[in-house]
Amino acid sequence: METIHQTPMMKQYFSIKADYPDAFLFYRLGDFYELFFEDAQIVAKELELTLTAKNGKNAEHPIPMCGVPHHSAAIYIEQLIEKGFNVAICEQMEDPKATKGLVKREVIQVITPGTYMAALGEKENRYLLSVVNVAGRFGIARGDVTTGESWLTTLPSREAVLREVEGLVPSEIIVDDAELADHLSSLGIPLSVQTERLASSLSSGARDEAQVSAFELLFAYLTRTQKRALDHLQPAVAYEVEAHMQLDANTARNLELFRSARSGERKGSLLALLDETTTAMGGRLLKRWLEQPLYTEQAIRERQDAVENLVDDFMLRDQLREQLRHVYDIERLVAKVGYGTANARDLVQLRNTLERIPAVRELLANVTATRLHHIDATLDTFDALSERLQAALVETPPISIKEGGMIRSGYSTELDELLEAKANGKTWIANLEQQERLATGIKSLKIGYNRVFGYYLEVTKANARLLEEGRYERKQTLTNAERYVTPELKEKEALILGAEEKSCTLEYDLFVTLREEVKQETKPLQQLARSLSELDVLLALAIVAEKRDYVRPTTSNNVQIDCGRHPVIETVLPRGEYVANDLTLDDTRRMLLITGPNMSGKSTYMRQFALIAILHQIGSFVPAEAAELPLFDRIFTRIGAADDLVSGQSTFMVEMTETRQAVTEATAHSLILLDEIGRGTSTYDGMALAQAIVEYIAATIGAKTLFSTHYHELTVLEDTIPALENVHVRAIERDGRVVFLHEVHPGRADKSYGIHVAELADLPPDLIERARTILSELETEPKPTRAAVEQPAPAEPVAQLSLFETEDDIKRQLLDLDLLAMNPIEAMQALYALQQSAKKE
Ligand code: ADP
Ligand code: MG
Repeated sequence: METIHQTPMMKQYFSIKADYPDAFLFYRLGDFYELFFEDAQIVAKELELTLTAKNGKNAEHPIPMCGVPHHSAAIYIEQLIEKGFNVAICEQMEDPKATKGLVKREVIQVITPGTYMAALGEKENRYLLSVVNVAGRFGIARGDVTTGESWLTTLPSREAVLREVEGLVPSEIIVDDAELADHLSSLGIPLSVQTERLASSLSSGARDEAQVSAFELLFAYLTRTQKRALDHLQPAVAYEVEAHMQLDANTARNLELFRSARSGERKGSLLALLDETTTAMGGRLLKRWLEQPLYTEQAIRERQDAVENLVDDFMLRDQLREQLRHVYDIERLVAKVGYGTANARDLVQLRNTLERIPAVRELLANVTATRLHHIDATLDTFDALSERLQAALVETPPISIKEGGMIRSGYSTELDELLEAKANGKTWIANLEQQERLATGIKSLKIGYNRVFGYYLEVTKANARLLEEGRYERKQTLTNAERYVTPELKEKEALILGAEEKSCTLEYDLFVTLREEVKQETKPLQQLARSLSELDVLLALAIVAEKRDYVRPTTSNNVQIDCGRHPVIETVLPRGEYVANDLTLDDTRRMLLITGPNMSGKSTYMRQFALIAILHQIGSFVPAEAAELPLFDRIFTRIGAADDLVSGQSTFMVEMTETRQAVTEATAHSLILLDEIGRGTSTYDGMALAQAIVEYIAATIGAKTLFSTHYHELTVLEDTIPALENVHVRAIERDGRVVFLHEVHPGRADKSYGIHVAELADLPPDLIERARTILSELETEPKPTRAAVEQPAPAEPVAQLSLFETEDDIKRQLLDLDLLAMNPIEAMQALYALQQSAKKE
């Protein structure tokens, strides 16, 4: 075995592969990338390629091998990256034709899921995330190599890290300790432990050691894998989680901010609704705004001013948008330039973008909003670069930068001369054909070209004897034709081919120089990209506001929404069919308990509120007739198990874990949405928990809270919790059937519509009739109906309490209750009994 594997080439392979144990080694061999041994076995399987053997299948120790053509390797690499693998590209570093013996080879780049230059989607960032543990503080660096951006933050616990990471959905994670790796492995994202660090001035914006350390880990990894100067990387931006409204992955999912719950697609999400951006950069920025809504009034007001400015001026909006339509993804373009992968088409797109800037500036000349002013002030028109690109590049250059056809005539005299020589040569040849046909009298004589023989004269066999002896030199004989050359023809051929080769080389050099010039402008171009993306997003918000009839909200301590709508659901209903609802919350009315039958609109009402609050905090207008909103530091949502169709993990434990998060982490400035909490367990159990949770939030947190429940029994809480009020979503009965009005009214729902809903669902008439009978029996019994259906209520306390008949007795009994010693169920029962007594009075 040793000897077979010890050819010089295999030795070279082994020594290179040894440095890249975690990547598939794409070993360049002529026109192919070859993979060997285990790499070949796995890749052949993953990509459905044919597995062969280098030394023949029948060898004693066959070497498994598979390969992909060099020119189409990108597709295969992409597939492997998307499956979470790493690929090391090993190239021939010398021209094999000019080398004796073994060609020198080197790995020129390692491509990993988080460092892959191709975009995920043009409106998505591709994040590589590094997480480090510095004495119990967790530094996080998040970079997008396709745009050169990066962000830093510090988090206090592993749990917070997990939540943050889950929300960001990175393509790859690197960490510096095994315990962290363990903790994050459940996310199913490609992950590795790295230790090497590399200092960089790009981390100068870091706020603490943990952030510096995280950035250095990220930077070292990028440098080591990409193996080139990463000039397009921008200084890292530190952000504090607290400076923004915090939205964890769970809440983003529940509120369908980025994906629809039903389809998992972007369509149907709030992001898709808002995304009226015209540039890819704008699309990415909008997503980031939505990921991190603001938590400072000033910043919100500035965005709102800009949106208002654009809403008010139809012409401005329309014309700006028209200009932005021609704006290319400069962020990614600059990265490609930095990587040395930008082609002439990319630079033409840059040129087309730059040509739009003067018009944009002119349009922004009269705006009043501060943000728009700021954008205007930062828009450089790059006159010199723009002119240079204009002079250098043709309108539609080819994709390849090695085959010429990119540079305009007049840009380089040397190039023009070469191209002219080439053109002249071709004309000369065309003339020769005419001339020789006349001279020989052979009308079918023609001049052809092929790669092997170059230019030749071709005459059919039948005509060949008409040629005078020695006129041409015979070169090749075909079945029914002879091919000839002349010294003159060969001379011209050399001239044409020489000019062609030289012109291609020259064009390539000119292009690379031009690309270097663009590279010099990396930083200002990135600034331009930022300004244009912000303009694009503000414009998008204005377009949505105008199109959907939104109103500018004001920031206040209280909530006052007049005729609020659910931004997404209203768009799927015919216009005007969505039922708008008001919402009022203030210090004395912080919590709403929402009752109403299934399908009446409880969940919609709650989510609508959260979405309006988020829209407010990203600086957008909101779907309402008027709105006053406070700043929320976080939004917590818990959707009861029965409604939790999305995650598929609708266990009661999950419900409680998330509830714990809300009740332990919420502040008085948070918004909590608890939708049908307690549904995942039995009635009394669930009801008790639900009540205890409401009481806890009221007494110890003070967060604004919307709480929906189908436990009508809980509506009595209004009497004991001052900050809580009942509202209900109205449904009416018409001809024995239930009609949902989707209107929210004060007070509690007075009746359960379960049976009517069952009827609507076409359950058999006999069954419905029977249910009606049981219901009326239950309603006449002196105990909670729901409890009676699921488990017999203990009769004891009811019996005892009912002894007290007079008002005084009831009062005394009330005062005697030792509330702190009771559990919620006992409290509930005591209350029920007291109410029964009062009724008898
Ligand atoms: P619940 O939570 O009370 O069971 P949902 O909030 O899930 O009810 O609403 C059920 C359906 O009713 C929604 O899918 C929507 O189609 C419709 N709906 C809810 N609220 C409204 C409204 N305000 N106007 C119009 N249709 C609504
Ligand atoms: Mg619901």
